[in-house]
Amino acid sequence: ITKLGILTSGGDAPGMNPAIRGVTRYALDKGIAVEGILRGYEGLLRQESILLDQRSVGEIIHRGGTMLRTARCEAFIHEDAQRQAVDFLRSKEIEALIVVGGDGSMKGAQCLSRLGMPTITIPGTIDNDMPGTEYTLGFDTAVNTVLQSVNKIRDTAYSHERVAVVEVMGRHAGFIALHAGMASGAEAVLVPEHDVSLEELCNRLYESHQHRKLSSIVIVAEGAMSGSDVVSYIKEHTYLEPSLTVLGYVQRGGAPTALDAILAGLFAQKAVDCLCQGTVNVVIGLLQNRLVATPYTETDRMHFSIDDNMYNLLHQLGK
Ligand code: ATP
Repeated sequence: ITKLGILTSGGDAPGMNPAIRGVTRYALDKGIAVEGILRGYEGLLRQESILLDQRSVGEIIHRGGTMLRTARCEAFIHEDAQRQAVDFLRSKEIEALIVVGGDGSMKGAQCLSRLGMPTITIPGTIDNDMPGTEYTLGFDTAVNTVLQSVNKIRDTAYSHERVAVVEVMGRHAGFIALHAGMASGAEAVLVPEHDVSLEELCNRLYESHQHRKLSSIVIVAEGAMSGSDVVSYIKEHTYLEPSLTVLGYVQRGGAPTALDAILAGLFAQKAVDCLCQGTVNVVIGLLQNRLVATPYTETDRMHFSIDDNMYNLLHQLGK
């Protein structure tokens, strides 16, 4: 292989920049040229790209977001758009494409592979909801961002003796809520993977209050329900004073944690090594602390869910 392309797609995630840096410098070191496609699949259709050298990826390892920009591109689900993208890549003499993004982006990459453009996906999404890996780039940073925020909210909840309800991101998954809840010692988390009974939640909070626990933290995953519905229910059914914080986009930004930056470098290396060995149409991942490459065709049976033991333990400890 003499030239590869790289793009970032879907929601931005801390770790995308170190992944771009890793892919670019590791590939260049192997004598492979690197073309950066701008704005994800949108950029493929608009034919926006730049040739990357060592210096173009300088000073980005510590930055959130993505220097290549990202986009959601609805048109890309159509095969004629995908064909157009393959033609553009070929016109640039790009022999394979590395896609850094989430589940949807991986589906897009899989479509390109089917049309004869080899691709490799590096998992990059704060939601951690991708098959073939236990960790996606951005997840650890997002969890730490939520943790820092909850620690601050806790000060006020304690001082005013309130129930602090914090709504966090995660799309249809509860990974961020569970991990941030576990780390921050939340009393309860509401996640889409487990049935949510607000009545049970109120009973728990009420019991804790009876046992002299005068403030509590409840973390709600956006995929489970809205934080404002939780607050309304608590207000209606108890005498407790709930407050609401919807953390929003702070969770997507910020410097990647050490774990995300390190993982990005290792994922990048694995992706380029796979390309060189002819192992393509795979998603890179970390499984039981080992770097792996799973064929797209095998990902359907490789979906991971939140850790049920951690879920139960959190509620045991938050009494
Ligand atoms: P995040 O987890 O951060 O939301 P994502 O990669 O899952 O990231 P999506 O918006 O689902 O984000 O997908 C990103 C882009 O991938 C879409 O805008 C679209 O261009 C492309 N894509 C998604 N699903 C498909 C599909 N089934 N076929 C082809 N392309 C797709």
